[in-house]
Amino acid sequence: MQEEIRNLIVETKKQLEHLRVLGVEGIQVTAAAAVVERPKPLIPPRPEPITKPVPIENVAPAAPMTSLFGEIAPAPVKLTPSTETFEQIHAEIGDCTRCPLHLERTHVVHTEGNRKARLMFVGEAPGADEDIQARPFVGRAGQLLTKIIEAIGLKREEVLIGNVNRCRPPQNRAPTTEEATTCKPYLLREIAIVQPKVIVVLGNTAMKNLLDTREGITRLRGRFQDYKGIKVMPTFHPAYLLRDPSKKRETWEDLKQVRDYLDSHP
Ligand code: URA
Repeated sequence: MQEEIRNLIVETKKQLEHLRVLGVEGIQVTAAAAVVERPKPLIPPRPEPITKPVPIENVAPAAPMTSLFGEIAPAPVKLTPSTETFEQIHAEIGDCTRCPLHLERTHVVHTEGNRKARLMFVGEAPGADEDIQARPFVGRAGQLLTKIIEAIGLKREEVLIGNVNRCRPPQNRAPTTEEATTCKPYLLREIAIVQPKVIVVLGNTAMKNLLDTREGITRLRGRFQDYKGIKVMPTFHPAYLLRDPSKKRETWEDLKQVRDYLDSHP
């Protein structure tokens, strides 16, 4: 093969030389043209091994777990203990203007209740009564929530009650994704402080925001979910129960599961 190429080059060179002699301009025939280049290797050379130390923040998280039959399951995410206080978080929130909900609110409504609670309730956002009183779940829906809490043998003061958003949306509309995303981190920091055994999420919006899911409440209610190692029970929002009291029976079933879980995990 190399011989053929060499002959071809020699022939081409002769032809070009002939043309040059005939007076055709721009032709250079050099000895180098006859040199057959060695073909480039098809496999590129190996890169130098990386010997620089990898910064700690770039180190991969704990290896995923291999389950019984070898499938790879993601490593469970756990809440890290927090050394913050509610007061620090509330001071940081301050007279918040981080999202458009501040424009029409009267008060920022913070999480309230027992900061050592084993049970927490999370709603969507304050309504008109909450906005005026600066306390979560104090309107009609809140009064029904208090009855639900008492029905499982607890007092309202024994549990923790909060919302994903702390400012009342105009006309009680659902907070937008951006509004929820702005406010939710403060709730998550409070959850990290208290680390309740169970969180009951009330209604679709609160559930979707806490669990980062697209599933609807009708599908997930009554089935324990997980938030970083904390049991999460989705159930209907008390405001919805006021509109459709027939749903109280399912809510009661969900809350009995919560009560039984807490009783069996003292
Ligand atoms: N609805 C909610 O979601 N939260 C409240 O605090 C009151 C009503």
